[in-house]
Amino acid sequence: METLRADVRAWIAENHPGEPGFKLPQSALEVADDRQFDWLRDWQRKLYDAGYVGAEWPREYGGRGRERGAQRVIDQELARARAPFLLNLVGLSWAGPVILRYGTEAQKRRLIAPLLRADEIWCQGFSEPGAGSDLASLRAKAVRAGDAFQIDGHKVWTTLGRYADWCILLARTDPDAVKHAGISYFLAPMKIPGVEVLPLVKMTGEGGFNQVIWTDARIPADALLGREGQGWEIATATLQFERGAAEGSAGGSGGGGEQVGRVAALARALARDADPVVRDRLADFWIRETALRANAQRARVAGLLSDRPEALPLMQKLTASELTQALADFACELEGDAAGLWIDDPGAIENADWQRSYMNSFAMTIAGGTSEILRNILGERALGLPKTR
Ligand SMILES: Cc1cc2nc3c(=O)[nH]c(=O)nc-3n(C[C@H](O)[C@H](O)[C@H](O)COP(=O)(O)OP(=O)(O)OC[C@H]3O[C@@H](n4cnc5c(N)ncnc54)[C@H](O)[C@@H]3O)c2cc1C
Repeated sequence: METLRADVRAWIAENHPGEPGFKLPQSALEVADDRQFDWLRDWQRKLYDAGYVGAEWPREYGGRGRERGAQRVIDQELARARAPFLLNLVGLSWAGPVILRYGTEAQKRRLIAPLLRADEIWCQGFSEPGAGSDLASLRAKAVRAGDAFQIDGHKVWTTLGRYADWCILLARTDPDAVKHAGISYFLAPMKIPGVEVLPLVKMTGEGGFNQVIWTDARIPADALLGREGQGWEIATATLQFERGAAEGSAGGSGGGGEQVGRVAALARALARDADPVVRDRLADFWIRETALRANAQRARVAGLLSDRPEALPLMQKLTASELTQALADFACELEGDAAGLWIDDPGAIENADWQRSYMNSFAMTIAGGTSEILRNILGERALGLPKTR
């Protein structure tokens, strides 16, 4: 592993793309401009061609078949070098792992390699206007018509939907079955008649997610993943990947890294670092960040969590997203009036990066399960508290 680490480090030193000369989004959740998209796609391809995406995935599908732990070493080095994040987030981190687990041989051979190389982009069609946290109440329909399924429904908050070639799509195939039993899971093509993508704008002014309207869209019958009616089980597995409670991502740095150090540097630059209140707050954040890192280590000790393997990663998703938000909030507080200035304003500090982080931070406390939902799950399944109704 130490050889791998040294190789990755040397490769990044040679190939880090630096700044693109235009504003990049802060994560794959905000990519909505063709220049950003092309630049980030090139970066993922380069990283894949170097062997650093899908490092542990099977060779026969386009992975590199390396030993367990290799991807983590690569990702750590990418994060350390503040390398750009990977574009095909949904494909790499949750569609790909579920296809490997539930897909047919034909599906794996057809879909995995282009996903790793960002030749084909994936999105996730789970949420609907009336079914976010309560996913099982989704209404999109899939009706079998010969060798196809006809899809009708309305999905919302579809990240990367505008660029996607494929969608992991949940739809109801049996309206008469009890809530969870009638749902099926599809690997649906997006660039077909009957699929309309309508962009949504976030409070940062950036795009990224979309509404997707499916009207009489015909997808082939072999787009079904698993069995008809098995959708709920596969959706639950997908959420385990999405929330970090199951390992198997094909890689990519989250682009985060050492956040408290950055806020401390900001305090120094603003000559606020001698203020005892500021120092006290920074120390508190540092303790939280250190505890998070220690917990991430703990989650990798085999057997330690065998009775509730998902509890620690869920706690991690909850606390990390809330820490990110609190830190960005504090950074804006340090900036004072300048926190009211926006990107490209000559008076903006760090080109308004902290303001943007603060607004974007709400995404991670909502997407993949809101903080309230995660607290419910942890309360019920980890602490054994009474169930909510
Ligand atoms: C940036 C971003 C990207 C996203 N990308 C995608 C995507 O690509 N594909 C996709 O399918 N979805 C995506 N989503 C949608 C996301 O999964 C949903 O927003 C999320 O599941 C919450 O659902 P909701 O928005 O319908 O809120 P609701 O479920 O309506 O919840 C509203 C509020 O009520 C609370 N609440 C609801 N039920 C309970 C309960 N039982 N107990 C306590 N509190 C409760 C919630 O915590 C929340 O505060 C994305 C969301 C964001 C923010």
